[in-house]
Amino acid sequence: MLSIDLHCHSDRSDGALSPTALIYRAAARGVRVLALTDHDTLAGLDAATDAAKQHGVELIGGVEISVTWHGRTLHVVGLNVDPQAAALSEGLARLCSGRRRRAVEIGDRLDAMGVRGALDAATRLASNPDQVGRTHFARHLVACGAASDVKSAFRRYLAEGRAGYVRHQWASLPDAVAWIRQARGMAVLAHPGRYGLRSPRLRSLFAEFRALGGDAVEVLTASHGPEQVDAVSRVANESGLLASAGSDFHAPDESWLDLGQLPELPASCQPIWRAWTDRRAAFVQ
Ligand code: AMP
Ligand code: MN
Ligand code: MN
Ligand code: MN
Repeated sequence: MLSIDLHCHSDRSDGALSPTALIYRAAARGVRVLALTDHDTLAGLDAATDAAKQHGVELIGGVEISVTWHGRTLHVVGLNVDPQAAALSEGLARLCSGRRRRAVEIGDRLDAMGVRGALDAATRLASNPDQVGRTHFARHLVACGAASDVKSAFRRYLAEGRAGYVRHQWASLPDAVAWIRQARGMAVLAHPGRYGLRSPRLRSLFAEFRALGGDAVEVLTASHGPEQVDAVSRVANESGLLASAGSDFHAPDESWLDLGQLPELPASCQPIWRAWTDRRAAFVQ
């Protein structure tokens, strides 16, 4: 098992655990290097840094930025970002207000479908009221009996094409990469296998991402099966991109890959952590 996990969420976005509890769980499950990558916010990093020191975990300050690319939502992870960098925090603040407007609209849609009071309920479920996302609505739909679990709440109400789905304009791909670079971080295209792109389009996305200054793509992630690991690692190598690995862990009981369950990267990949030469000692197994 890999002792590195470069993608996970706390309750500062749509994870279920506080940053402190997340670090504790990671340490207990054998993770030595963990990146906290909440959606569009750096709010968990201070608490995670303190907890990481206590539990002997190396914390990588991260974020997962929501992007709109040719009408599709993509996610770009920033690793080792400087939380003080102005362009990044201003960009995230704008995404945050857009997210809030979208939450109001999702609430209206669900209201029209007969699920009353969903906005208030989802906001109560979000420990961070700035980051109300579809997962919070999904958890409410489960709590009120409208869906049996989070996945079916997405399938029935919240996934693209369903009545509760609200089309939204997130950051542009060039902006997201630029914010990460200005914060002296590395930009990683998250879970590329989830975007439903066939090889030629995947290739052109990777080429565009590389040309903008992107560094890596996630090869290992909960949503990639063996075929996607193969395809993504092949195209990453052809495109000159490094490989990253992250569980995308959200909550113990929501059937995501847990912390500390990632296998090794395929031997053909160039791991992103090899580039962190000045911190290499931390990654020795
Ligand atoms: P948002 O940024 O609010 O649109 O929410 C995106 C998040 O919803 C993702 O990061 C996942 O945590 C979750 N999500 C998206 N699609 C699904 C799905 N089909 N089943 C379960 N969770 C999902
Ligand atoms: Mn999420
Ligand atoms: Mn994501
Ligand atoms: Mn994620």
